Amino acid sequence: MIDRTLLAKVKDCVVRGHKFVLTTHVNPDGDGLGCEAALAAWLLDLGKDVFIFNHSPVPANYKFLDPDKMMKVYNRDQHREILLSVDHVIILDISDWNRLRELGVDIREAPVAKICIDHHPPQDKFVDLKVVDTNSCATGEIIYDLLKFAGAKISRRIAEALYTSIITDTGSFRFSNTNPRAFRICGELVETGISPQRIYQNIYEHQPISKIRLFAHALNHLKMEERGRVVWFEIAKEVLAEKGANTYDTEGFADYPRVINGVEVSIMFIEMDDAKFKVSLRSRGNHVINGIAQKFGGGGHPYAAGIMIEGSMKEYIPRILEEVSYLFKN
Ligand code: 5GP
Ligand code: MN
Repeated sequence: MIDRTLLAKVKDCVVRGHKFVLTTHVNPDGDGLGCEAALAAWLLDLGKDVFIFNHSPVPANYKFLDPDKMMKVYNRDQHREILLSVDHVIILDISDWNRLRELGVDIREAPVAKICIDHHPPQDKFVDLKVVDTNSCATGEIIYDLLKFAGAKISRRIAEALYTSIITDTGSFRFSNTNPRAFRICGELVETGISPQRIYQNIYEHQPISKIRLFAHALNHLKMEERGRVVWFEIAKEVLAEKGANTYDTEGFADYPRVINGVEVSIMFIEMDDAKFKVSLRSRGNHVINGIAQKFGGGGHPYAAGIMIEGSMKEYIPRILEEVSYLFKN
């Protein structure tokens, strides 16, 4: 559990501040968005002004977290003034400025206090107050600790948001970050009357057909290395366009090949529009892979990491596969 003196500092900022901006990383997931929804609900309950600005739009399957449409795609012309006028910016589920894009540049330059709440291994020293616990299964676990510490009432809306954080980041209690607290906290959240079935349906049974077609393509093009211990696939930008899908639709794909017997590491390469590509690395838990991500400018957790690379995907794939192959040489 996170250091209580840090929680006391955040609580103090919340009590004294009036106006807040919340944000999370590009291609936001259930954890980042769940944290935003839970914190916003709490701050609104306290009568504070809250704005949520993100680099990317909210994926359709997470829209249920934002019934009042508070989560806005950051637009410098429209939102920079607001950013400059707040007491605190709270940056969630991220410790790397690059993953905030243009918004990161503006936040860094804004003369406002910056608080980072996260569970990734720290990278940039970019904020005034850093509340990071890599033992927390999700940033939502830290937000839960904060709300309990501050004596907040866990409303159904907050419970739904934090439950989303924890189930998405633990892969519904399957991944190595699943800890006893994850079950205890979720048990308590469910006691508020929220429906795990409804939340599951919103997140996982609400996929566009384009995503399923893209997934089928990925599964049809799996490549194996290291006698089946490494599996990888690439999705070219033309394929994304042909299937009518976008990069957000690939969430979860990289996890799946680990179901194959003998697979230790799974790698997904997604070509973006603009001479950039995204890499997702997943490990079954016997090999730490975030060091490889860091070598190429990315980061993440020991068994789930990612990279955004500017350059040609074709040229980088052999280099990344080579780094991964070193894991299997003694
Ligand atoms: P995903 O592959 O699902 O995008 O990300 C897996 C993990 O790696 C997440 O915890 C995410 O925060 C981290 N990650 C993904 N892409 C990047 C990146 O470009 N830079 C850093 N520092 N971390 C990343
Ligand atoms: Mn997270």
